[in-house]
Amino acid sequence: MTTLTAPALELRRAGLDYPDGAGTLTAVDDVSLTLQRGEFTGLTGPSGSGKSSLLALASTLQAPTRGAVVVDGVETGGLSSSELLRVRREKIGIIFQQPQLIASLTAQEQLLITESIRGGARKAARAKADELLDLVGLGDHLHRKPGELSGGQRQRVNIARALMGDPVLLLVDEPTSALDAERSLAVVALLEKVTREFSTGTLMVTHETETLGGADRILTMIDGRLAH
Ligand code: ADP
Ligand code: MG
Repeated sequence: MTTLTAPALELRRAGLDYPDGAGTLTAVDDVSLTLQRGEFTGLTGPSGSGKSSLLALASTLQAPTRGAVVVDGVETGGLSSSELLRVRREKIGIIFQQPQLIASLTAQEQLLITESIRGGARKAARAKADELLDLVGLGDHLHRKPGELSGGQRQRVNIARALMGDPVLLLVDEPTSALDAERSLAVVALLEKVTREFSTGTLMVTHETETLGGADRILTMIDGRLAH
């Protein structure tokens, strides 16, 4: 059941094991976490502590070995793969470290390619793409291809693209690790702004804790567990 007040994300003792030789490796050790809409949460911790695995669970790209993953009030456990795809399209925006942009497409086209897969009305989709690119500061660069944009600008295209589906939940994995300090701060400030403006529940993994000054909460992951 979906209600207006449903949290963007609830992990209920969610665990993820990977096969490891004869045994298993516990990447996420029964983590419980609630992320409200409009809330910007930073997630930090040593390499290999399970941060990306936690995002894989939250994104529904990886099913939990134990426990439950609830996105915007929808318990994802019993869903078919096409239902999961729909949850991802309608509720989740995913932003990874390296923007996976297509070299031959302009900034505007990067946003529209997803929309055409969804069969959205072309004209409305283009207006929305332009509005989002303007919001992320690329209003003058709509027709530039990735090779004609800086690293920070490419990451902004990536952010705008993740917003095309009006996500409730925004999952961000080390978005600034390829950027210099100044551009890192600007990209994180943009993610904060987006969180407030669109009321997304935003979970951002980063090693760069100095960028998290505006976060509502900073969680640390160690050995698959959250230390609050
Ligand atoms: P982090 O993002 O904090 O660096 P990860 O979630 O990538 O950590 O990894 C957590 C643990 O799970 C590590 O021990 C890693 O080696 C292991 N792991 C991650 N992905 C896989 C996978 N696809 N198959 C097997 N083990 C994995
Ligand atoms: Mg990682």
